[in-house]
Amino acid sequence: MSDLGALKTALVTGGSRGIGAAICRCLARDGWRVLVGYYRSEARALALAREIGGEALGADVSDPGQAQAMVDAAGEIDLLVCCAGAALPAQIQDIGDEAWRELFALNTDGAFYCVRAAVPGMIRRRRGCILFISSVCGVYGSSCESAYAATKGALNSLTLSLYKELGPSGIRVNAIAPGFIDTDMAAAYSPEEKAAIAADTPLGRLGRPEDVAELAAFLASSRAGFITGQIIGCDGGFRL
Ligand code: NAP
Repeated sequence: MSDLGALKTALVTGGSRGIGAAICRCLARDGWRVLVGYYRSEARALALAREIGGEALGADVSDPGQAQAMVDAAGEIDLLVCCAGAALPAQIQDIGDEAWRELFALNTDGAFYCVRAAVPGMIRRRRGCILFISSVCGVYGSSCESAYAATKGALNSLTLSLYKELGPSGIRVNAIAPGFIDTDMAAAYSPEEKAAIAADTPLGRLGRPEDVAELAAFLASSRAGFITGQIIGCDGGFRL
């Protein structure tokens, strides 16, 4: 149900697929004007934007110029959801320089570029909300996913500084730390591996993109108006 007085605008990076697409749908249902961020999945982003009455904006967020141009094209943003990301399952000794840097460029630098571009307008209007889609890996660590966990740990640290820096300007900053969510990112796991993860999850199932999206929609709403500086798990109780 909408609790937005005037139509407000949300930009969701990584909005073309998976968790980001579910967030776009939930926000649109709640009355937001949604800008669907995409990189390679243009057709999916355009179809989703049509479905929810929003617009699609393309950018490689790991490129500072493209990230800035996307935020500029978005105009006044009340909500920025930094969801674009990728995983890197590998043992530490097998991670090359380029793979390490590429992962940080997308998961961490990409979020930084978008936040840096969006914050001046939010400060000017003295309102705004920033949501990072982090991971349980960034909170608890994860064997053979150390680089990925490090990129998400950095987002958590960013959350814990930015809410202090931006709170006096009326801007809330929170992170969501999803557990195992069944999206394209989980495609490398076999059905047996997924069943084992579900069995290790106290709530007995894998996460769905909608689980994360409902939390994001709540945190973005005025019902969460006194919540900032939090890293909130959405994991069915799953611990690595
Ligand atoms: P996904 O289905 O693989 O989607 C990844 C999204 O990131 C896509 O929309 C993709 O856009 C976008 N993206 C990739 N590279 C990009 C780039 N260079 N510039 C801009 N956008 C780019 O993954 P997901 O599972 O929904 O994950 C979404 C977020 O949740 C990620 O940050 C991930 O780390 C986090 N997360 C996922 C899980 C999980 O179990 N699935 C758990 C914890 C956290 P295009 O397709 O348009 O290129």
